Amino acid sequence: MTKATKAPATKPCNICDGKDLGPGPGGRMSYDGVSSPRCTACQSLERHRAFRSVFNQLKDHSFKNAKVLQFSTDRSNDARWFSSHEISEYEGDNPLDLQNIDRPNESYDIVVCNHVIEHVADDRAAMRELVRTAKDSGFVFLSFPDPLRLDKTNEWGYPDDTQHGHYRLYGKDVRQKFKEELPGVHVFAVTGTDPCTGSTEGLWLITASDKRAEWIQQQVPNAQRIDTGNKDQNPSERTNPTKATIKNPSTIMGRLLSPPAKPSRELAPNDNMGASNLDRYFTVGRDAMRVIGSAINRPGAQIPESVLDFACGWGRVARHLRASFPDAQMVCADVWKDAVDFTSKAFDAEPMQLSTDPNEYEITTKFDLIWCGSLITHLPEDRARRVIDMFANALNPNGVAVFTTHGRSVRHRKANNIYSYSVDDASTAIESFDNNKYGFAPYKGETNYGFSLTPMNWIVNEILQRPDMTQVQYSERAWDDHQDVVAIQRRSTTEPHRPITT
Ligand SMILES: [Zn+2]
Repeated sequence: MTKATKAPATKPCNICDGKDLGPGPGGRMSYDGVSSPRCTACQSLERHRAFRSVFNQLKDHSFKNAKVLQFSTDRSNDARWFSSHEISEYEGDNPLDLQNIDRPNESYDIVVCNHVIEHVADDRAAMRELVRTAKDSGFVFLSFPDPLRLDKTNEWGYPDDTQHGHYRLYGKDVRQKFKEELPGVHVFAVTGTDPCTGSTEGLWLITASDKRAEWIQQQVPNAQRIDTGNKDQNPSERTNPTKATIKNPSTIMGRLLSPPAKPSRELAPNDNMGASNLDRYFTVGRDAMRVIGSAINRPGAQIPESVLDFACGWGRVARHLRASFPDAQMVCADVWKDAVDFTSKAFDAEPMQLSTDPNEYEITTKFDLIWCGSLITHLPEDRARRVIDMFANALNPNGVAVFTTHGRSVRHRKANNIYSYSVDDASTAIESFDNNKYGFAPYKGETNYGFSLTPMNWIVNEILQRPDMTQVQYSERAWDDHQDVVAIQRRSTTEPHRPITT
């Protein structure tokens, strides 16, 4: 053996035996900055060879009788190993919906899904579907862009073109998703190594069978079984843990998480909020759809056909509302004429010009959904009350109004000067809030516009005054981890609340 004087020669490609490596996509080098990632013969990259290294470990005599389903083509395995090898390609041949796989339970011995699940809206359904279509005695080979870097999965809720069309970037907390969706199923975290560059890739091997789990552990000694809890933890779902609930794509949550259209990226020329940090602008807008979704996803809920964005500004949320509800009649309301002009044109909405005094508002149309972000947070008590009253009156039966307020978290941030909220002294407002009363501090030169603090019990008392309304949500710091979110629903007239008697 000779003493190494330079980096040892890499091993040949484990897919094609090629020895020549070249630059990767966009000319990139491998993670070590020295190696070239792409096999010039078979075009494989690090992850393909890392997955192949795991398949090479798994491969045994049973493969020749195995029926395989693979989502998208990749070189992690070789179709010639198996008795049948079906490929499903998105927008290509045999396109199966990963969230609702059009195949009977237990159809395959091996189901392979590499770098696809991050492209679907409902990855929980996809996890269940992968396991459902694999035979209990078989296994699922699953991977997605590496979940090891982040602690927490970052979900943005739509396929972001600037993120390769992904819906999310997985974090280590994906284990919790496995636990919730596949309780008691054997899930192994496995690391594959690319022989050419030494680069490693994480993946998951999943099986419902104890025997197969034992086999995985034998074939792949570095497989780490993760805790997925107990099959009997969730009796309601335990009858057949692998039988997925087929998601109805028309559900409101599905619609909001996977809007039929992409939100418009058109900004008004004077939209400073959008111009200063576009990514954040979209994140906060998207997050409004998440809170709206959780508020309106009620029994018997319908996709809203009429939507009011009240105090719409330059359309930070309106663009997402339009994308999620392309067929809805939408109204964009604001006191700024320019904002109303822009949003109504850009997002195909009716303009509604508001006066600055809510006492002069009159809304004659009825809506299925009203969204009002960051308005009550600026209003004194009487005007906040007036606005809520107006929302209640402008809802169709079963319609929902979702609005935001400043609660305990904002009180804390203001009291500790973490944010200024553009008012110098809010001590009176804070004192009032601490006594469970509405707090307000006007901006300089204003009387009816400023910084407000709304105690929970204030809201609850307001809603209790209205037997025609149901409070469906009060979620502290739910919007962008900042403002409180309140949702109220107009009750159907046939079933009023029982009057409160004390
Ligand atoms: Zn190769």
